[in-house]
Amino acid sequence: MELKIDRLSYTYHPGTPFEKKALDEISLTIGSGEFIGMIGHTGSGKSTLVQHLNGLIKATSGHIFIDGKDIYEAGYPLRELRCRVGLVFQYPEYQLFEADVLTDVCFGPKNQGLSVEDARIKAREAMRAVGLDESYESRSPFELSGGQKRRAAIAGILAMEPELLVLDEPTAGMDPEGRDEILNLLKTLHEEKGISIVLVSHSMEDVANYVSRIIVLDEGKIRWDGEPSKVFVHVRELEEIGLAAPQVSYVMAKLAEHGWAVDPSVTTIDAAVEEILQAARNRQVHIPGSER
Ligand code: ADP
Repeated sequence: MELKIDRLSYTYHPGTPFEKKALDEISLTIGSGEFIGMIGHTGSGKSTLVQHLNGLIKATSGHIFIDGKDIYEAGYPLRELRCRVGLVFQYPEYQLFEADVLTDVCFGPKNQGLSVEDARIKAREAMRAVGLDESYESRSPFELSGGQKRRAAIAGILAMEPELLVLDEPTAGMDPEGRDEILNLLKTLHEEKGISIVLVSHSMEDVANYVSRIIVLDEGKIRWDGEPSKVFVHVRELEEIGLAAPQVSYVMAKLAEHGWAVDPSVTTIDAAVEEILQAARNRQVHIPGSER
């Protein structure tokens, strides 16, 4: 699926004293199989933008085209779009409400018009994909751990077999272990099922090691859109808009400032170690423990 956003703007409560322009002329294209991180400070417009992606809210001006078709045209199948673009809200576990996990995960596919039997098949597949085996099917969603609840909620969306999965702060409030679990799950879904993913986060550290493209929002506008290494070199400007680059970017920027011949655009720790060791060898500086 190709999703193209063309000069999209959105204003909350237009014509009232509470009028607030949340999105300002956003244009971007999400291609098939992409893994995108959408980053921005609180209030930058991330949640508002992602709710446009499946037609949940309608732009004040501008267009969205899915495979070339304008979703705001009369007769566009918006119901179908809600399934093709799966939206996982912040704290999705608050939306678990059925007596057992399987029934909860069946909710989406049943709404799609599937029979109970077929909905169960989809739900079971989705539960396996998020790592919940059959022993979880009859458990109450409320008995699950925080990470398991979030997996169950993601399964509920996956059961509708979306082509694009959009997650709004899926790691919010989780400890580092739970966070890595969810991020690794998304990585697997992307690699093994070929689902396109948009991961909304306010943490660069979260997305740096996973995504191949980062979109930075600031005050309702796109500030940067590109490969992580190209975005993270703007360390200082990112700080100005309340975002921090990954720790690695700071270390590399400092070393480069001090004349070390390292590539300041590396974004992962492994690549940074390679760069530093190479630069140390060139400078004939011995780093204890680096002998191989
Ligand atoms: P983010 O997800 O990046 O935190 P949001 O999309 O929630 O940003 O918010 C963008 C802007 O729109 C903010 O200024 C926010 O205060 C405003 N906003 C969000 N929701 C509403 C609403 N329901 N009514 C009025 N203003 C809102």
